[in-house]
Formats: sequence, C-alpha cells, structure tokens
Amino acid sequence: MQIVRFYVGDTLEMKKSHPCGDKHFEVLRVGAQVRVRCTGCGRDMVLDRIKLERAIRRVHSAPADDTAQSQE
Ligand SMILES: [Zn+2]
Repeated sequence: MQIVRFYVGDTLEMKKSHPCGDKHFEVLRVGAQVRVRCTGCGRDMVLDRIKLERAIRRVHSAPADDTAQSQE
C-alpha cells in the first residue's frame, strides 16, 4: 500500500475532476480529515484523509520556501 505524503500548501491532482472541471485541489489543513480547496472554482471541502488519499493521482509539492533544504 502506497503512502501518500502531502502538506499544507501542496496541490493535489485527483483522479476525478470536480464538477467545475478542475482536477487540482490546494491543501488547506491536514489531519484525520483534510481540508482542500478547488483551484478551479475556489470551493473548499473537508474530506476523510483515507478517502482523499485513494482519490489522489499525484501530489504537486508547493514551491520550497527559503527555509527549505534541497532534498533531491
Ligand atoms: Zn471546482
């Protein structure tokens, strides 16, 4: 089973698109439930992390800020 890592500020690309047609969601809050905001229409929603992870196609990490160290 694959572990999906994502953090506040990352953008998630989902397998299914939102009704507005956009597939990308920005992470607003992470916990047992995750709050995300559709980048297409701006609507935000709270989802169970388990369900959300299953629906993710890939994670686009947020641009590193100036305190981040290079990891690659
Ligand atoms: Zn939308």
